[in-house]
Amino acid sequence: MSRKILVTGGAGYIGSHIVRQLGESGYDIVIYDNCSTGIPQAVLCGELIVGDLSDINRLYQIFGKYRFDAVIHLAARLVVPESVDYPLEYYSNNTCNTTNLLHCCNVMGVDKLIFSSTAAVYGESHHSPVTEDVTPLPINPYGRSKLMSELIIQDYAKASSLRYVILRYFNVGGADPAGRIGQNSRHANHLIANACNAALKRQPTLKIFGTDFPTPDGTGIRDYIHVEDLATAHIDSLRYLEDGGNSEIFNCGYGEGYSVRQVVERVKAISGVDFPVINGERRAGDPASVTASIEKIKKVLNWQPRYNNLDAIISSALAWEKRKLKSCE
Ligand code: UDP
Repeated sequence: MSRKILVTGGAGYIGSHIVRQLGESGYDIVIYDNCSTGIPQAVLCGELIVGDLSDINRLYQIFGKYRFDAVIHLAARLVVPESVDYPLEYYSNNTCNTTNLLHCCNVMGVDKLIFSSTAAVYGESHHSPVTEDVTPLPINPYGRSKLMSELIIQDYAKASSLRYVILRYFNVGGADPAGRIGQNSRHANHLIANACNAALKRQPTLKIFGTDFPTPDGTGIRDYIHVEDLATAHIDSLRYLEDGGNSEIFNCGYGEGYSVRQVVERVKAISGVDFPVINGERRAGDPASVTASIEKIKKVLNWQPRYNNLDAIISSALAWEKRKLKSCE
């Protein structure tokens, strides 16, 4: 009998890539998504249920009906500046809704959970690359909402048979290499997507948020990971838990940092478009530099990234944005 997996947020950017890989690996998938940022067309396999995690009665019904073997929990709000302006939305959506899901796992005996967390839990870590055992100190409500969820999951696991894998995502970019799915959210305001949109003239300029950070060129440094490799980390985590693995936290990045200016230069080179760039103020809640240590995930999960290359991330993102532009014409 094939194993039944619940993916919350499976109609979103990262979730849709995970769902596709789960389908290719023979899993039976139910996607629960409120489609606030995700879209039904991104769900390439499995059964999509449109609903909100705040609706705990509906969740209980769904858990009762499907008898999941494991849950992959992604559904969340994830825009740092938005979290600064609307913190309660973030604590309700990200933290309280995680508790709802755990209640259902508890009542229905689901004992395997993969949780989508973030490098934002580290805040202004002075260790770079940062290892998973560094004490997290998030500097914005988004990071705090995720850290609180991590702690709740850990407390609950101690008191139950739950085993979890917490994946702390660094900066996710790129799209399905076959071009079927990619970043769709109208609210996405991430660097690579914005720079691609500037190259495609969908926005007039690219604004750099902060040029006075304590980094070599003054702009923020991040560790960019291809969405396809990130999705694979979830499949690897699931297999690890199925094989009896202990609860663990893993960073998901490549262990390499690129500044905003470096990313912008690569987008210009790959697109062949020299779009205008404006030097702007720092964005609220942005740390200077965040890169991952990835020794642990490679060792424990034997995770083998296949697209570890900034140009590969940018090329697939650009191809996806072009495709979206064409479909609007
Ligand atoms: N950034 C920028 N211009 C943009 C979008 C982002 O300069 O239009 C910067 C941002 O300040 C950060 C880096 O690019 O230093 C990555 O930001 P993004 O929003 O992609 O991800 P985050 O690190 O905030 O999760």
